[in-house]
Amino acid sequence: MPRASLHTIGCRLNQAETALLGDQLRSRGYDLVEFGRPADLVVLNTCSVTDNAEADCRNLIRKVRRAAPDAFVAVTGCYAQTGADVLQRMEGIDLIVGTQHKMDLPRYLTSLERRPAPEVLHTRTVSRDDFTIEGVGEYESTRANLKVQDGCNFMCSFCIIPFSRGHERSRRPDDIIREAAGLVARGHRELVVTGVNVGRYECEGRSLDDVIGMLESVPGLDRIRISSIEPTTISDPLLERMAGPSKLCRYLHVPLQSGDDGILDAMNRRYRTKEYAAFIEKAVRLVPDLGLGTDIMVGFPGETDAAFANTRVLAADLPFSYFHVFSYSPRHGTAALRLPESVPAVTIKARSEELCALSRAKRLSFYHRYVGRTVSVLFETRNRSGLFTGLTDNYIRVGVPAEADLNNQIRPVRLTGAMDGLALGAAAESTLRQIGA
Ligand code: SF4
Repeated sequence: MPRASLHTIGCRLNQAETALLGDQLRSRGYDLVEFGRPADLVVLNTCSVTDNAEADCRNLIRKVRRAAPDAFVAVTGCYAQTGADVLQRMEGIDLIVGTQHKMDLPRYLTSLERRPAPEVLHTRTVSRDDFTIEGVGEYESTRANLKVQDGCNFMCSFCIIPFSRGHERSRRPDDIIREAAGLVARGHRELVVTGVNVGRYECEGRSLDDVIGMLESVPGLDRIRISSIEPTTISDPLLERMAGPSKLCRYLHVPLQSGDDGILDAMNRRYRTKEYAAFIEKAVRLVPDLGLGTDIMVGFPGETDAAFANTRVLAADLPFSYFHVFSYSPRHGTAALRLPESVPAVTIKARSEELCALSRAKRLSFYHRYVGRTVSVLFETRNRSGLFTGLTDNYIRVGVPAEADLNNQIRPVRLTGAMDGLALGAAAESTLRQIGA
């Protein structure tokens, strides 16, 4: 049985695709082994979101080749699409598969004989057709991702993704439900609905809200979580579903990127701060206990002290429970590359630290709101301090002392305190007795 190992660099969607490729390889007779163990085939699913990510991919390819000189190395993912010419000139790659053929990669592995030069399967454009995907993702984690959409038409000026993944397209509803049922049969109780621009889902007359409705009727599925979603794409019916009795987690991750209208304009974002704030206020009003995260980019060209101050004030004012802070990174092929007034690295670092500190403070205050209340936790793993940890539906990470293995159990927990990044609690005594603690 040939051994295959797979590795993902990049986002949740890449993880979902690697998981599906793993399943396809297993059903074709491969033995899946942990990345880093001896293997006959190594599949690297790459990322091109920043220059650094691309450099990481190249370093990893060299490292894999040094560690496994005889293995067949296949490289796919966003960097295989945007950097196929660079990868072709690198030593040690046997197969390069761009976006169009990515999910068919296993079919092209007719032989694992090493090649003198890489075979390249690459098209400049990517089909806009709706799609299905073979298999059911292979995940070791408690939660599993469920890919429902790919590509983006929004053309934010800093973003390479429309070039690496192509135009928007959606997965056929029946195929989504088929994989969801397969993931539940493997024991996953929570699925994270994932795509590049997931709110733009549209297929066979169905919207994202319709697909969530279909997923709600999958027996055995307890939670449905939506991954990052653009603010202009979140419908009222989706918010109403989240507010009502539903399996849909009360959680939204809505990228803000900047709190300054001039910068949002230069970024080619599809909203201005007033609209964004109005949306957030509506979401919080409609969905009690909503967990609300965002992405903020610092150091976009032209981000003056005043523009950054606008971002800091808005980020502080809006009821976020956390944010991810990213530094702007110039990307070849994007419109923002041509913008003047780049921000010095030292300023980017200082702004980034300031926002990270604000995010930590906001998360702590969000967690404190729940101290004294009983929340429902899907447990995942034991942390380094020995606490069993998991997430509430609104994205509070909770840790409890427990002897028993609580993995994949959903349990009520009374929260007793909170610290940076972790709310502390105790599972009810009766609960622990039930599960043999
Ligand atoms: S919405 Fe903007 S940032 Fe997000 S993938 Fe599309 S172009 Fe990139």
